[in-house]
Amino acid sequence: MSGVPREKWSKEFSRWFDWVLEEAGIYDYGRYPVKGMGVWLPYGFQIRRRVTELIRDILDSAGHEEVLFPLLIPEHLLRKESEHIRGFEAEVYWVTHGGAEPLDVKLALRPTSETSISYMESFWIKSYRDLPKKFYQIVSIFRYETKATRPMIRLREVTTFKEAHTVHESFEDADRQVGEAIELYKCIFDELGIPYLISRRPEWDKFAGAVYTVAFDLVMPDGRTLQIGTAHHLGQNFTIPFEVRIQLRDESLDYAWQTSYGISDRVVASLIAVHGDDRGLVIPPNVAPIQVVVIPIPVRDEQSREKFNNYLKKIEEILTSNNIRYHVDLRDDVRPGRKFYEWEAKGVPVRIEVGIREAEAGTVVVVRRDTLEKQTVKLEELGAVLKKLFEEIRENLRKRAWEWLNSHVTRVETVEEAQRVLSEKRGVIELPWCGREGCGLELEELVDAGVLGSPLRRPEWVKGKKCPVCGRPAVTSIRLAKKY
Ligand code: ZN
Repeated sequence: MSGVPREKWSKEFSRWFDWVLEEAGIYDYGRYPVKGMGVWLPYGFQIRRRVTELIRDILDSAGHEEVLFPLLIPEHLLRKESEHIRGFEAEVYWVTHGGAEPLDVKLALRPTSETSISYMESFWIKSYRDLPKKFYQIVSIFRYETKATRPMIRLREVTTFKEAHTVHESFEDADRQVGEAIELYKCIFDELGIPYLISRRPEWDKFAGAVYTVAFDLVMPDGRTLQIGTAHHLGQNFTIPFEVRIQLRDESLDYAWQTSYGISDRVVASLIAVHGDDRGLVIPPNVAPIQVVVIPIPVRDEQSREKFNNYLKKIEEILTSNNIRYHVDLRDDVRPGRKFYEWEAKGVPVRIEVGIREAEAGTVVVVRRDTLEKQTVKLEELGAVLKKLFEEIRENLRKRAWEWLNSHVTRVETVEEAQRVLSEKRGVIELPWCGREGCGLELEELVDAGVLGSPLRRPEWVKGKKCPVCGRPAVTSIRLAKKY
């Protein structure tokens, strides 16, 4: 387990998060003169890029096609599905002028793209033979958030919104697609070592315009939950108003069925949050922009210097031939201790320390970031040791993150217990539930927390238990948490 404390990380998470974004050069937030918008800095952008590449690879391999739609959506398109616009109305940014001229048609900065994509699909899709169709794009979306904004977590410009939109010939096929979306998201989060709870959102908290919504939530270091992914069955709610009509196998005509699913910058925020510690970031090696940082210990003696530089070159050759992303920190105005501190904050998974002593012995000192354990490694074994270490670090981070999540999900049977657990350690509370909306809403009030929803399958443990509000037999469980 980690040798690095996680006191500030858990007890002062909000401050820790702001500190780490700045210290590690991830994201400059709060200085850009538009509220709720921040700047990705070079190192942060590298992390973001690797995460988006991973998402692209996984979606592409499951038959999704990347597209790019315009940022602007005319008002009449956005208003065509009434539930949808009701859900977004208060959050839409409008473009009303072109130069000094007022526009005939107001244009929305996309809050999401169901409307514009459905509109175009009505031209493209005519028959079941064209289906299923799976599109996605990774774009900025804009929402005029009225709650307190937070870097990467609650923004007015979400810069990394991956939205997938699919079209199907039947309700069942769209249903199956939601299942596929869940599997793909598991795969993405597993690659990043991010743990999750999957819940079917209650009726009163589903996506505006969806038949149902399934969401992925994470418990953050402060015990509050963060929604990190959603998948929606859209039924025919958009294909009817947008007239996406298809010919079915029996040659009759019907409206097509759709799903949509999205993940955002919050994937990067959660990657940073779940793996961090009091020294800063800890980035899993598979997405780390720099996997190994080499810190040479200065050599004073002139005669030894050439020998030492040759030894450094040998190390670089080994790293290159093993396809390892590395950086040699040659700054001569910064002392090694300071360098250790900086690269630890940036979360580089492995550090190599090398001085003249190591050069003479044909070794290097290898330090892993997650536990700070040190080992002396012979040069000829370095490539193999690093590969093995990368796997061990990934596995350790994944395991630690899941343990954190699991230790923050608590089953209780009464409102009093729920209140006590939420005030002591927060996290997610699971209660037996009769499934009625009225009881769910009352629980939100009584426990003073938000409902995440219910597990996709009825959990065994609720058998024989009663709903704590009405006393009727429980048909499932309900999850509540303090939410971001
Ligand atoms: Zn009830």
